[in-house]
Amino acid sequence: MPDKIPATLIPGDGIGPEIVESVVEILDSLGAPFEWDRQLAGLAAVGDSGDPLPLATLDSIRRTGLALKGPLTTPVGGGFKSINVTLRKEFELYANLRPARTLIPGGRFEAIDIVLVRENLEGFYAAMEHYMPLGHDPRAIAMSTGFNTRTECRRIVEYAFDYAVKNGRKKVTIVHKANILKALTGLFLEEGRKVAKEYEGRVEMNDRIVDACAMQLVLDPWQYDVIVTTNLFGDILSDLIAGLVGGLGMAPGANIGTDAAIFEAVHGSAPDIAGKGVANPLAMLLSTGLMLQHVGRADLADRLTAGIDRMLAAGLRTRDLGGTAGTRDLTDALLQQL
Ligand code: NAD
Repeated sequence: MPDKIPATLIPGDGIGPEIVESVVEILDSLGAPFEWDRQLAGLAAVGDSGDPLPLATLDSIRRTGLALKGPLTTPVGGGFKSINVTLRKEFELYANLRPARTLIPGGRFEAIDIVLVRENLEGFYAAMEHYMPLGHDPRAIAMSTGFNTRTECRRIVEYAFDYAVKNGRKKVTIVHKANILKALTGLFLEEGRKVAKEYEGRVEMNDRIVDACAMQLVLDPWQYDVIVTTNLFGDILSDLIAGLVGGLGMAPGANIGTDAAIFEAVHGSAPDIAGKGVANPLAMLLSTGLMLQHVGRADLADRLTAGIDRMLAAGLRTRDLGGTAGTRDLTDALLQQL
């Protein structure tokens, strides 16, 4: 019996606790090696201690280097800062991994299997923004100065190529806008090409300008395998790709750094359906599949995804996918398929 792996578990807000319970039950049945350290964050933590990101939670992630996180509610306009962004910075989670695979047969796009790797710390999301006055208008000009560093460009492209090698992927596409943003994304392409040379013979490489890539993703998504891109482009394209395979309810994600990794569904806390027992736990479950791969248990990840495939093939759907099943029905059905 392999050793237990300590991991931080943050149930989160809204539908978070419901789907996390379902996920933990399924992982237990699968024999996943995680030993959970339950911690709070977000609104749940504010209610408990007044702090949306308590020190105990940060300490736990520092200790385990591994977390499964339910969605957290971020107050709009005021309140506390996004905990997700804070966690990314705190643990230097430089790579955002967003795989998208067709799970529901008969949809608009069959056989999609694309992994998007997004740079998570730099670009326009790390920009200094300010306004400049002109005449009587104090905000006549808006300025934003984003930055990309050579080191980070190299690190994220290396991550993508390394991921390709480890996961039997054939091709990495570097997506940029180096024809216009010649410095900001030119540096990304320059460094990306150098990294690609180091993987020559093992992984194919090509590059695409982001606008052309967006169009091709809609017209002919099957030409893509692994995509690696800068922060802003990655944010947009990853949602586009999620849309190809059924929307955010099916989209898993991982934020990966050198010393820590946090796994989470892409969707939010869905306050409109919280507590009703109808939330779809699949995105969260698929995120735990990534977590299992991350800790070297691809065997369990494969069993989990095979079980999900069988369950969906049998026709079971939650309401967001046009069905009538609740979270409990889906959990029971999946337990039968493992
Ligand atoms: P949302 O993703 O929570 O919900 C959008 C729509 O999708 C809703 O109608 C919801 O019912 C539905 N939905 C989402 N997940 C579902 C699931 N698993 N099963 C069934 N239906 C599902 O987006 P929102 O309403 O814009 O955001 C709500 C809150 O979540 C906000 O406070 C936002 O800041 C936060 N949020 C958190 C994260 C995160 O923690 N990673 C991500 C996005 C949004």
